[in-house]
Amino acid sequence: MLEEFREEVRGWLADNCPENVMRQGEGLAKTDFSRWFDACYERGWTVPDWPKEYGGAALSREERKVLREEMRIANAPTPLTGMGVTMIGPTLLEYGTDAQKAEHLPKIASGEVRWCQGYSEPGAGSDLASLQTRAEDHGDYYLINGSKIWTSGADHADWIFCLVRTDPKAPKHEGISFVLFSMDDPGVTVKPITLIAGSSPFCQCFFDDVKALKSNLVGQENRGWTIAKRLLQHECSSISSPDGFGAGRESLSALALRYSGNVDGRIADSQLRREVTTINMDTEAFGLTLRRATEENRSEGTPTFATSMFKYYNTELLSRKSEASIRLMGTQGVGWDGAEFSEEEKATTRFWLFGKALTIAGGSSEVQLNIIAKRVLGLPD
Ligand SMILES: Cc1cc2nc3c(=O)[nH]c(=O)nc-3n(C[C@H](O)[C@H](O)[C@H](O)COP(=O)(O)OP(=O)(O)OC[C@H]3O[C@@H](n4cnc5c(N)ncnc54)[C@H](O)[C@@H]3O)c2cc1C
Repeated sequence: MLEEFREEVRGWLADNCPENVMRQGEGLAKTDFSRWFDACYERGWTVPDWPKEYGGAALSREERKVLREEMRIANAPTPLTGMGVTMIGPTLLEYGTDAQKAEHLPKIASGEVRWCQGYSEPGAGSDLASLQTRAEDHGDYYLINGSKIWTSGADHADWIFCLVRTDPKAPKHEGISFVLFSMDDPGVTVKPITLIAGSSPFCQCFFDDVKALKSNLVGQENRGWTIAKRLLQHECSSISSPDGFGAGRESLSALALRYSGNVDGRIADSQLRREVTTINMDTEAFGLTLRRATEENRSEGTPTFATSMFKYYNTELLSRKSEASIRLMGTQGVGWDGAEFSEEEKATTRFWLFGKALTIAGGSSEVQLNIIAKRVLGLPD
């Protein structure tokens, strides 16, 4: 059965993944990508494991694996990314009401609605449960007041999933609720944040008397913390894969050979050779460990606390790799602008900074280590 499915996928990819779309990384024309997206969507493969009624293809875990493998072989780009498909979609599948699923999931699958994450606040990052954005009960809606920060893509998002305080008197983890509302609602103001490196995807959001319908409360009032943590596991999971970020970039070995010289096809400097080999071996070992853990995961492939280990390791490994790239490229590795740097060199500098950001997004490395100590190793608080 699975082999039949594999053949079917292979044939479909040959017919539908146009050659120029396959050459990922060489610059996809928008129309090529749209055609590819439409073909995937029609087949339910923008969200292949979701139920058909919500735009998915209801693939089993094994079929999903086959599809992933074949898409990787075909070098086919992921048709749909973003917080809808990786974070709020899976969370709604688990905690949403039937009405919430019917309203929101199909629009995520079709790429029609983009989501952003309203978690961090100026005074609540790692200590997220200290959040102060208030939601007052007004019968069939909440009145929301407060501010969120580092909200990635808020200036382009249609909807937000937001943590709000519904009981200020309760212990801090127990007075939080998880609500959804439209970014077009009156009272929502979004201000993009400019960083030292120029424009950024970050925004600060301000909520002044925003009305969020109670029908968009996910789970029970004051019980949002459990849902918030579950969503963070999905977020970590989406940052855990070595196939994701950095895919398509020139390998460290190739960079080392090009920039630091080679003797008989080997990296000339023995210390650098050792460093590059160690990173390559760690990358390979990590990929295999992740694959084994996914296959052994008894909770049907959904993330667990152990996901923190993979998020931590993957983002730290990416950082080690980009640090090594910058070092071996010398002054060419710190280019930001100007004709003396190639586009690739400038991209390496940006990727180095992006790698650092990934060790913070979705919970910093230190916070992941705390979760591993407490929830995976069972160490005392
Ligand atoms: C690329 C990127 C995208 C992001 N996107 C979003 C988004 O879309 N929505 C959103 O809500 N947020 C987003 N964030 C914010 C992110 O969740 C927070 O930056 C993160 O949780 C850390 O919070 P903070 O910045 O307030 O740092 P702080 O919590 O102030 O931490 C400062 C330092 O102290 C360390 N630290 C804090 N507490 C502990 C502890 N208990 N033990 C050990 N060390 C500790 C941290 O590791 C860190 O090094 C994004 C961040 C980045 C970098």
